[in-house]
This record gives sequence, structure tokens and C-alpha cells, in this order.
Amino acid sequence: MPTQMSAAKAWELLRAGNARFASHDSHHPNMDADRRRTLRDGQNPIAVVLACSDSRVPVELIFDAGLGDIFVVRTAGEILGESVMGSISFAVNSLEVPLVIVLGHEACGAVKAAATAIDGGGIPDDHQRVLIERVTPSILAARGEGKSATDDFERRHAGEVANQLIQRMPKLAAKVADGTVGVVAARYQITDGTVETLATHGGVQEGHAPAEMPPGEPGTQ
Ligand SMILES: [Zn+2]
Repeated sequence: MPTQMSAAKAWELLRAGNARFASHDSHHPNMDADRRRTLRDGQNPIAVVLACSDSRVPVELIFDAGLGDIFVVRTAGEILGESVMGSISFAVNSLEVPLVIVLGHEACGAVKAAATAIDGGGIPDDHQRVLIERVTPSILAARGEGKSATDDFERRHAGEVANQLIQRMPKLAAKVADGTVGVVAARYQITDGTVETLATHGGVQEGHAPAEMPPGEPGTQ
């Protein structure tokens, strides 16, 4: 059964989960045998997250979420491709997930490699080349805005991937336009465990305080 939760509510719950994680107060919700049994008959995740594959960015852990809570897609450098957009389309259009998050992170190797390549540091000749190809436009855009710090390249890249998702996926764009789906660009900071919000689109409103979480949603025990 599709979730009826709003994008803003989903983002509020995930931000609250991240606050718990960052302050060493994770509840590890929705991990018991009852939850597993319930999920046998279907899933009803509250968000789809496109994140970097980096081992330091485990999506469910950093949002203190459990089984069935988040539909996760991960590629190195959170780069897009047909399979990635197909997966996100399934989540948004078939599962009716209300929130899409593009999650970059601090100290991203793919972003660093692309920046190095732009500066003449060499381009890999194997499959890793695609990482350079798909991160480089973000770095060039950041530089065009006068940015030179790696942190800012990472922020610009997550924001650019979110923009590209909306531009390339017409059904998603329509849902963002009418507010039924929200898209967030965010960046996970490895050092302190927090997720910073970079940009929001559609049905996501900023400035909400973390709400009380009703039973059965992420963050409950
Ligand atoms: Zn990364």
C-alpha cells in the first residue's frame, strides 16, 4: 500500500533520525521479527535516497532508519545513469515514495578524482572513467561560480544531480511541480555525522522542528 505521508513529513522524520545518529542516540527502529514479517507482503518506504557507494555513508544507519524505511540507490559519486533513474522511477512512480534525496558526502573520492583530472592529474582508462565524466560538469559549474574548495565541489555536485533528476525525469518533475513529491540535495559530514541540507524542491518545506514520531514509522522502537 503506498504511503500517504507528505514529503515534508518524511524529510522531518529522516532529519530527526540523523540528529539521533549524530548525537549517539540511535534507536535502531523497525528491526525486529514483527517488522520482517510485515514486510514480507510489501514495502512502503518513506524516501528514496541516491547516495555515494562509499563505505562511510551507510544510508539507513545515518538516518537511524530500519527495514523497509528507505529505498536506497548507491553509485560511486552518486552519479546518474539509466539503471539509477529506472530505480528511482520505480520508487517514485510505482511505490509512490514522496521524497527523493540525493546525498553527497564529505571527503568524496569520486569528486576528488574528478577535480584532480580537471587539473591534469590523469583520467582512468577503465570503467572508473565514467565517474570522472559524470562528476566533472558539477565541478566546472562550481568553479564557474567562483568556488574552489572540495567541500563546495561536493555540495555543488549533489545539487546538480538533484537538478538533473528533475530535468531528465518528466514524471518526477510533474510531481515536484504539484508538490506531491519533494526532492532534497544534501551532504553527509563524515566527521560529525550530520546531514546538511543543500537545496529543496517541490513538496519539502524547510524549517520544521523534528516532530513526534507515531508508531510504526522510522525512529520508533
Ligand atoms: Zn563518495
